Amino acid sequence: MADTAATPHAVELRGVSKRFGDTIAVAELDLGVRSGEFFSMLGPSGSGKTTVLRMIAGFEEVTSGSILLEGEDVTRSAPFDRPVNTVFQDYALFPHMTIAQNVAYGLTVRKTPKAEIRRRVADALEQMRLGHTGDRLPHQLSGGQRQRIALARALILRPRVLLLDEPLGALDKQLREQMQIELKQIQREVGITFIFVTHDQEEALTLSDRIAVFNQGRVEQVGTPREVYEFPQTAFVAGFLGVSNLIAPDLAERLIGESRAFTVRPERVRIAPADMAPAAHETSVLGTISELVYTGPATRYIVEGEHGLRVIAERHNDHAPNDTAPWSRGDRVRVVWATEHAAVVP
Ligand code: ATP
Repeated sequence: MADTAATPHAVELRGVSKRFGDTIAVAELDLGVRSGEFFSMLGPSGSGKTTVLRMIAGFEEVTSGSILLEGEDVTRSAPFDRPVNTVFQDYALFPHMTIAQNVAYGLTVRKTPKAEIRRRVADALEQMRLGHTGDRLPHQLSGGQRQRIALARALILRPRVLLLDEPLGALDKQLREQMQIELKQIQREVGITFIFVTHDQEEALTLSDRIAVFNQGRVEQVGTPREVYEFPQTAFVAGFLGVSNLIAPDLAERLIGESRAFTVRPERVRIAPADMAPAAHETSVLGTISELVYTGPATRYIVEGEHGLRVIAERHNDHAPNDTAPWSRGDRVRVVWATEHAAVVP
């Protein structure tokens, strides 16, 4: 194959399928994860992300297809023969072992010399800014600290690829957002390829170099956060990655002379007086505001337009807190967006 040339992918899946009885969990999947990237697999529950992760780790056999790690076929290799390690959502720390013993575990079972273990454990804890916790037990640490211990324990084995299965899923929102930033920093520092499973769109957009969007055992699109958000290739991707306006082909034809469906993000849509003439590079629709939704940083306006079109427009609440919204329910308005912000769904 041509793409196995100079630098092989860190992980490559070729035509990988997985069946559980009658369920096709993963269907004919081709995927290439580049070396050193933070790669997320994003999708709703049951879309096959975890199954793909488990097949890369070797916990689950493929039904057909092959898996390559740095160009080497590992499809039939046992998990411990693959240069990968996994961090699970529940961290799977041993409760009766100290933090240092937990972090050392992988080296201990590999019979690494004691002095080297001590040095590497100290380095790993230092790297996670938890140098002082070695003698404690897991229950004496906070959720965020336990998360970092789980990372240290996985990274101490120097895997080429780290697999993370919803590792922030058990944390509350505030801690989760803090850990997202830390996780990204840690990945940049260690330079290891991270493959991250999540069903949280915002999390995937925040963390990833690239995202694969899963739906029903298939990947609908792979791209940078900006690409999948601004230019969704399918209606599913547009809808799953945040709120979107999806304009059906017949309406698209009338509005922009394009007979394919298109999407436009609410934050690209503004509301203008009904009698305002749009500029040449803009598309606009007349309508009536049917609903206002306050979301904190922004307000969403639901506008029922001509031709049965419903458009959501979002306006940042960056005005004085006691200013009321300039538009109310029932107002006749014109929704307007720059035509270049409409992404045609191929
Ligand atoms: P979640 O976020 O809920 O974990 P997911 O996207 O990771 O979802 P998978 O767990 O990979 O999805 O599941 C994909 C499909 O395979 C689902 O229909 C699931 O029910 C099925 N499945 C997964 N593991 C098994 C199993 N061991 N036995 C039978 N069916 C399974």
